[in-house]
Amino acid sequence: MRPLDIPRANRIYVNRNLRLDKIEMVGFDMDYTLALYNQPRIEELSMRATLHKLVTAKGYPEAILGLAYDPTLAVRGLVIDRENGNIFKPDRYGFPGRARHGLASIDREHAVDLYQGERTRLSNRRYAWIDSLFALPEAVLYGCLVDYFDRHQLAGKPSYSTIWENIRECIDLAHRDGSIKTVVGDELAGYVERDDALAETLHKFRSSGKRLFLLTNSAWDYTSRVMSYLLDGAPKRVGESSTPAPYPSPYPSWRHYFDVIVVSAGKPEFFTEEHAFVDLDAGGEPLRKASAGPFQRGRIYMGGNIKDFQERARASGDRVLFVGDHIYGDMLRSRKSSNWRTAMVLQELEHEVTTHDRIRPELSRLDRLDAELIHLDGELNERQVALRALQKIEDDPSTDEPVSAAKRTIKEAIEKLRRDLRAAKIQHRTLESSIDDAFNPHWGPIFREGYEVSKFGDQVEAYACVYTSRVSNFRFYSPMQYFRGPRDRMPHER
Ligand code: IMP
Ligand code: MG
Repeated sequence: MRPLDIPRANRIYVNRNLRLDKIEMVGFDMDYTLALYNQPRIEELSMRATLHKLVTAKGYPEAILGLAYDPTLAVRGLVIDRENGNIFKPDRYGFPGRARHGLASIDREHAVDLYQGERTRLSNRRYAWIDSLFALPEAVLYGCLVDYFDRHQLAGKPSYSTIWENIRECIDLAHRDGSIKTVVGDELAGYVERDDALAETLHKFRSSGKRLFLLTNSAWDYTSRVMSYLLDGAPKRVGESSTPAPYPSPYPSWRHYFDVIVVSAGKPEFFTEEHAFVDLDAGGEPLRKASAGPFQRGRIYMGGNIKDFQERARASGDRVLFVGDHIYGDMLRSRKSSNWRTAMVLQELEHEVTTHDRIRPELSRLDRLDAELIHLDGELNERQVALRALQKIEDDPSTDEPVSAAKRTIKEAIEKLRRDLRAAKIQHRTLESSIDDAFNPHWGPIFREGYEVSKFGDQVEAYACVYTSRVSNFRFYSPMQYFRGPRDRMPHER
């Protein structure tokens, strides 16, 4: 398929040139990369599991169990200000744009006062960065609980900072003790999207001679359930309707798609520390003796680190493409600790692109209004300069040129320009906010904040060589594709 025939929501977007013909090994993260989740359902499940723990383990009032869940309250790229109970969306430079306290929005002027001149450094302990889809319920819960405790004067109520720590601790526990995974694992069809084109995509990579690996933080039992749901029996299911399967399946099970399988990888530490690999038996139990030398196909490995991985897999540096969804654990850390090339899966991209396409006329109108504001500002400036010049002539005792008629005309023109400017600004604000609402009523698009690219968009640009909405989009391209990015230009070169 020619790149321009591929629907925009399914294209692969390029930040840095990537030649697939140079790639020998393609690695995949599992959660939110190979396995796309039904976001509202898994978020609600995580929120309910966490609320339950807040009540039973932290003594929060039972009434919070009834809190309503609204999936629009959080997007990726938000920052929690745990000192003030606020949540905001920073732009590329770290300046807070839209901000909320509890469930109410903070108006722009107040937000500017609160964070005046401040560049929010994400490394500051006061802030927490919502950068993975698993973390969205944490932001939703923080908003709901700050609001709840603001409205209820309870003795010994937790501080804003404690609310955040309690949420973190309880959701972390819910991930670890099976409260979330048991429910998902028992009802995979309700929580995980089975993308029938995934098997075909992986097969296409393999047919072109690339080796594949799986590198997930999930543990073996959960990984095998999810992967089996995604791939076992495929591609037969594509053909289950009336179309025949595109190729006879040479894969008796999902494990046969991968040359190396690593579970409980502990990313980002996988990229920074030197934990040893542990071999697992067929039942997922650790073997006492760890193997050495090249990885064996069909074996399961746990933990490990990138240095040993590259040695044992005989793949290194820019010959490896790693596909993941987590900006820090999968993209940033792997880029900083190795030469691995990166592809980022952004589940939200389908919504962002289709929304963008749907409101194209409004976006063009906004561009025209931007241009009109610049034009009106320029005109106003010009008149004001002319008025000052006339004033000078009038004040000069050595001339007696009559200027009052000219002054009156210019003053009238200035008044009219000011009225036009006010009206254009109102129109601009209204249009901009209706455009933002089309993406998300509280936070706007995830890749922009006002006039700037958002902090999250900036990180995607910086750490993902290419990005796309789902792994199966690779099937539209040749496994030898040369993904070319736009030429990087300074503003004066554009
Ligand atoms: P991956 O994306 O395949 O590497 O797997 C991510 C894993 O991290 C999943 O098993 C998640 O359940 C788990 N996870 C996500 N957030 C948390 C957390 O806050 N605490 C513990 N585990 C988490
Ligand atoms: Mg993931």
